[in-house]
Amino acid sequence: MRFTEFNFHPNLLEGIEASNYENATPVQEQVIPPIMAGKDVIASAQTGTGKTAAFLLPVMNRLLENHVDGQVGALIVVPTRELAIQIAQHMEGLSYFTHLSSIAIYGGNDAQNFVNEKKALQMGADIIVCTPGRMIAHLNMGYVNLKKLQFLVLDEADRMLDMGFQDDINKIIKVLPEKRQNLLFSATMPEKIRQLAKRILHQPVEINIAISKPPEKIVQRAYVVYEPQKLPLVKKILKETPYKNALVFCSRKQTVKQLTRELKHGKFNIAEIHSDLEQAERESVLSAFTAGRIPVLVATDILSRGIDIDTIDLVINYDVPGDGEDYVHRIGRTARAEADGTAFTLIGEKEQNKFASIEQLLGKEVEKAPVPAELGASPAYHPRVRSGNSGGRNTQRKFYRGAPRRK
Ligand code: AMP
Repeated sequence: MRFTEFNFHPNLLEGIEASNYENATPVQEQVIPPIMAGKDVIASAQTGTGKTAAFLLPVMNRLLENHVDGQVGALIVVPTRELAIQIAQHMEGLSYFTHLSSIAIYGGNDAQNFVNEKKALQMGADIIVCTPGRMIAHLNMGYVNLKKLQFLVLDEADRMLDMGFQDDINKIIKVLPEKRQNLLFSATMPEKIRQLAKRILHQPVEINIAISKPPEKIVQRAYVVYEPQKLPLVKKILKETPYKNALVFCSRKQTVKQLTRELKHGKFNIAEIHSDLEQAERESVLSAFTAGRIPVLVATDILSRGIDIDTIDLVINYDVPGDGEDYVHRIGRTARAEADGTAFTLIGEKEQNKFASIEQLLGKEVEKAPVPAELGASPAYHPRVRSGNSGGRNTQRKFYRGAPRRK
């Protein structure tokens, strides 16, 4: 479906064209019409599907048609600063030929930031993109007027609940006008999201675009290793796999720091990113990465959601992520838009069960690549996932057809 078929404002169509979008993605095709018809929407869609434009475009279109000067028209609440910045940038591109304005409110440690945000909020903006805690800090000061708000968007809602933002979201909703259009986007739909949706949304249209499945075009491989084999294996992968930009994920920032040290020692041109860095440092690392000056980034899950850099064609999970959703998000950083991507996961001996649960969620077994002989003997893949009642082996055995790989 072409964007010209949606009946968008001509100035918005110009922005779409300038962004080089021709055809709507499936999520856009399904989500845009009900939003334009004024309906509340709950959509499960992964990042990389074009979901940001799926809510931005109809929201912007309405605000163009129904503009109230000096009033906030839409509030987009997101879990992380990085996502807030990215959505604001997306919005800037699409709104280039319109008079719509937007602000990203995401905090940071220095007081000047707060003052700048306050000034921007006092001047007003059509669309505010914010992280919950920071928005509440501003709301508490009393200068934000949301009386004419038309849209509330909750993006990556599952992540926000995981991060403990439920109370903050409730506080924000309390100050919004009752009559408004609500849009909720979530990569997954666990029960707690359905409960949230029940409280916030009004007779929503429900749209499901492949729940928690990574895009098919990502080539997934896993290595079953002993813990000490991980470092030499990562070095080998980084040396021998062709890539433009690679992301190496670790679950803990301690591991990120340690691995970065080791890799720098091995003369790799890399940088690290985690929550101990100041916002300015994070941004400068990300821009060096995006510009190709630093081809490899070692990161915690802070980067696993929402970050959209077209040139990432390799993701390495140095450890197995906490759950299937994190796995899908991590590997979803590659193969963005039209690009291809490869995702390698290193499974330590103690991580086999965790990985088996992820495979169960994916509904398929991830191919296990042979560990290079020079790294020595490696363990076999013998996941033993405890069943609910016996504590013994369970259905995983059914799930894995064929003999476990061995060296
Ligand atoms: P998202 O899922 O919102 O993170 O978007 C993923 C990427 O797809 C972003 O780089 C968008 O700019 C891009 N994108 C979104 N919609 C389209 C479209 N209709 N055609 C081509 N690229 C798109």
